[in-house]
Amino acid sequence: MRCKLVAGNWKMNGMGQSLGQAEEVAKFASGQDAELLICPPFTLISRMHDLLQGTGVFVGGQDCHANASGPNTGDISAEMLADSGATHVIIGHSERRQHHDETDSQVRTKVAAAWRAGLVAIVCIGESESMRASGRTLEVVKEQISGSVPHGAASGSTVVAYEPIWSIGTGKTPSHSEIAEVHDFVRSELVKIAGKESGNEIRIIYGGSVNPKNAAEIFSIQSVDGALVGGASLQAADFLLIANCAAS
Ligand code: PEP
Repeated sequence: MRCKLVAGNWKMNGMGQSLGQAEEVAKFASGQDAELLICPPFTLISRMHDLLQGTGVFVGGQDCHANASGPNTGDISAEMLADSGATHVIIGHSERRQHHDETDSQVRTKVAAAWRAGLVAIVCIGESESMRASGRTLEVVKEQISGSVPHGAASGSTVVAYEPIWSIGTGKTPSHSEIAEVHDFVRSELVKIAGKESGNEIRIIYGGSVNPKNAAEIFSIQSVDGALVGGASLQAADFLLIANCAAS
């Protein structure tokens, strides 16, 4: 049984006063069957970690540099994230792939850096609207997995987030069967990379316009092991409604 993971990606949102939302999530976290994670901007990680310590809600980063330290102005290493209290890091989000030209091989190197620092890497993959329209979804996803997920991936170190780019922040979601098709395919590719046992244990979560209204249906898909939630994770009430759907 893979425990569901509900992860909030705050993106470039959140000031000190937003920590109250994380505290609110923590208040209701103890009754949850699902694992909860909040990935705030770098500036809030340390303070959020202090607030959430012992509550069962984890804190994560949204990206990391491949190196542990060095002359990389503005970058943050996986070791620095761990030092700030993070346990997870999102890597290869489509916004980084699109706006920062991150390639599969860079993502792969960052995943290895996350492992080196003892962090769980949440590796994002997903097709664009035109790729789906031209019937290339599985081909693209296959290429992204083999390029981005290093050998040695295991459930304690790696989560894969399937996030169709056209679904992020748009309110549009794939159908039940489209999500199931991709998740089943990702599972078969993970088994090839990580072997049968580890490949079957790694969680595959769905991301793209998950909200309190559609979460129950998305979580009812047998191959969905949780969600990566953007916009709807900014308000504790919505995030908790989504988390409740994962638990039931
Ligand atoms: C995301 O950016 O990871 C995401 C899933 O965003 P949203 O939920 O807002 O579509």
